[in-house]
Amino acid sequence: MSVLQVSNLVKRFGGLLATDDVSLTVEEGEIHALIGPNGAGKSTLINQLCGELAPNSGSIHLAGRNITNLSVPDRVARGLGRTFQVTNLLNDATCRQNIAMAVQAREGLNFRIWDRVARRQRLWDQADALLAETPLAERCDIPVQDLSQGERKQLELLVALARRPRILLLDEPMAGLGAVESQEMIARLALIGRDTPMLLVEHDMEAVFALATRVSVLVYGRIIASGSVDEIRENPEVREAYLGAEDALC
Ligand code: ADP
Ligand code: MG
Repeated sequence: MSVLQVSNLVKRFGGLLATDDVSLTVEEGEIHALIGPNGAGKSTLINQLCGELAPNSGSIHLAGRNITNLSVPDRVARGLGRTFQVTNLLNDATCRQNIAMAVQAREGLNFRIWDRVARRQRLWDQADALLAETPLAERCDIPVQDLSQGERKQLELLVALARRPRILLLDEPMAGLGAVESQEMIARLALIGRDTPMLLVEHDMEAVFALATRVSVLVYGRIIASGSVDEIRENPEVREAYLGAEDALC
């Protein structure tokens, strides 16, 4: 059974077919990259998977269950992880506090007040376990507002992981990162990918080719090709439709 199964998804914005009969799967152990030019419909697809946009037709199954009509929180509760919702971070709380709150949310504890949370050593222990061996470990007591953009993105990933998702949906995790931060993010995603399958929307081809076990190419809302990194690199239709340049995939 696929972790995520998208079948014949269609989304129209007026006369624009932004998602044109898209079917794809993400399997256990897989990092499935979704690439395509600007305006291809990548974010529209991710937003339908997350529940922020309702499709016109088609279905989405998570671990065999139909989630097409579930709300965003119900999808999260069933294991759909999404990163880079910056608004989910509390800016004046520390990294460690943000992670502890996500652990708390997962465990369904009804504590809102910090001093009660502080008594719960287990939450802190789990937050520390997530932080261990990440670049944020030494910065964990710094308020989010004082982090660099790269550090925030690392934190958003940890906050998503604190909920122990069955799958992660990542919409351009490399966007806005410098060279060093990008390398750190690639290494981090490779590590996470060992345990957690991903659907990775990314413009950065270096990242895609380093991480993906499968690549699908979306153009004008349609998947025009799907295959291994090597197959996609060599696919003439992909080169023409998406990359336009002979050496663009090198
Ligand atoms: P990508 O993420 O691949 O760059 P998007 O999913 O953002 O592409 O956009 C796909 C197409 O749908 C674009 O033509 C965009 O202008 C259009 N679009 C996206 N969101 C909306 C919306 N809420 N209303 C109308 N058109 C939209
Ligand atoms: Mg987009």
